[in-house]
Amino acid sequence: MRNLKFSGLLAIVATVLAACGAEPHMEALDNPQSGLSTLDTTEVEAILHQHIAVLASDEYEGRAPATPGEEKTISYLQREFSALGIQPGNGDSYFQSVSVTETTTASDAVLMLEGSDYQVALSYGDQMMVSSQQQIPAISVLDSELIFVGYGVVAPERSWNDYAGIDVTDKTVVILVNDPGYATQDPNIFNGNAMTYYGRWTYKYEEAARQGAAAALIVHETGPAGYGWEVVSSSWSGPQIGLQAANLNLDKVDIEGWLTLDSAQALFAGAGLSYQQLKAAAADPGFSAVAMSDITASVSISNSVRVSQSQNLIAMIPGSQRPEETIIYTGHWDHLGVNLELPGDNIYNGAADNATGTAALLALAKLHAAEPAPARSIVFLAVTAEESGLLGSRWYSENPVFPLEKTVANINMDNLNTFGPMRDIVVVGDGSSEMENYLKEAADKQNRYLTAEPNPERGYYYRSDHFNFAKVGVPALYAASGEDSREHGREWGAEQAQEYTDNRYHAPSDEYDPDWDLSGAAQDIFIYFDIANKLSQETTFPNWFEGNEFKAIRDASASAR
Ligand SMILES: [Zn+2]
Repeated sequence: MRNLKFSGLLAIVATVLAACGAEPHMEALDNPQSGLSTLDTTEVEAILHQHIAVLASDEYEGRAPATPGEEKTISYLQREFSALGIQPGNGDSYFQSVSVTETTTASDAVLMLEGSDYQVALSYGDQMMVSSQQQIPAISVLDSELIFVGYGVVAPERSWNDYAGIDVTDKTVVILVNDPGYATQDPNIFNGNAMTYYGRWTYKYEEAARQGAAAALIVHETGPAGYGWEVVSSSWSGPQIGLQAANLNLDKVDIEGWLTLDSAQALFAGAGLSYQQLKAAAADPGFSAVAMSDITASVSISNSVRVSQSQNLIAMIPGSQRPEETIIYTGHWDHLGVNLELPGDNIYNGAADNATGTAALLALAKLHAAEPAPARSIVFLAVTAEESGLLGSRWYSENPVFPLEKTVANINMDNLNTFGPMRDIVVVGDGSSEMENYLKEAADKQNRYLTAEPNPERGYYYRSDHFNFAKVGVPALYAASGEDSREHGREWGAEQAQEYTDNRYHAPSDEYDPDWDLSGAAQDIFIYFDIANKLSQETTFPNWFEGNEFKAIRDASASAR
């Protein structure tokens, strides 16, 4: 009987009944938000169900930027914010136009690897992926010498330089995914198991471009990447969204690509090298780049580039005393759209990712709207094109509507908990900023504890929109649902999270389920609401902890207040 057209109400009633009958110790937490708002958890839960059911419906076509799915999504959000009496946040407009490029690489690209003892033509999709950020129709790399540069990292503060003593101008660099800390699991090397920005693929392409390389190929491995090859091949095929650049991104490498582990191992063997040995050597500070025999890479790709406009949506409750000082909630409204080449269900509904966070913006708007005017402004920023590389939030951080030095904090929501109440709440990128103190105080009221993120090697702190606030110095909080389920325990909670990562993350099966228990998400929302309320009454500005890489930027901007 349950389907997407069905109101979630019956399911909510069922969920609440089940929860009530479950465990007596939950009673103390029946109203964990008591005193915070006139709304209760059940009401917030119902609000979430209502909005997620709409945003993740097939009608919204997977909410891809610059598609009819966007039109429906942002119109819906505008109507809902407006109906709540939340005013436009960009002058008299709810929108900030983001100039996006949509670049489609023809899927017939072939990567030729040729040496005296090794010739292979790797096919697009199942053996490699190639693309280009350059906003021009045709890009070629011809007979470019291959060189293995380990992790491709230049980190002066760690006395680490994988490009030391070599010139990779016009060469093709082959790079390992993640960083040496992950590889060694040694907490004294980089951040050990936790990924640093040097482990991110974005960084590796950026560094290769700074070094003058023609092409950069990252070797995919599921463990250190944090996702399987299907995620690489599906997210890099089809239209790639970028930001329009005055220099057409000609300063980027010509070709950015990935090799499957099989392709890479065959290449190393073809060059008379051992992949395993070199991989181990690359985690050593004494590593030097290695030429890959006489093997060269050639690839030509044709790009169709289309420029279009997508929108960030900005709504705000103006502060009564210091309106230019803002607390900014973010959640990305976009997801992956539709893949017409996929048989069967080809709509990426993105129900958890991130209809949940988008619905949470509306729930928070309703909570704040019921309060007396805050001293500082509360901003609701639903950003576009997160899935294409955090583009909407990057555009905002480069073209801020509110002064960054007076932006008190960012609270980001991406992929909320659909598994019910948790005893813990996870701090992504823990040890970063004073926002964690606020989080702890608010979590205490719900009798919940903070946990460090369970998979810091996946670099989630660099993988959602708060990161663009961090890069410009604004303390950014990204918390995630815990895994210590009040009802079923930690093992069960971890299993649910793993099941999602394995089967639904970035897949058409990330669909709305009216049976979802969103009471845990509602509790998280009360935590964010509590934090924002507190910040909105204060006159101080939270900062990064000592030693954090973003603190210097924040300290410098403080003088402009
Ligand atoms: Zn997301």
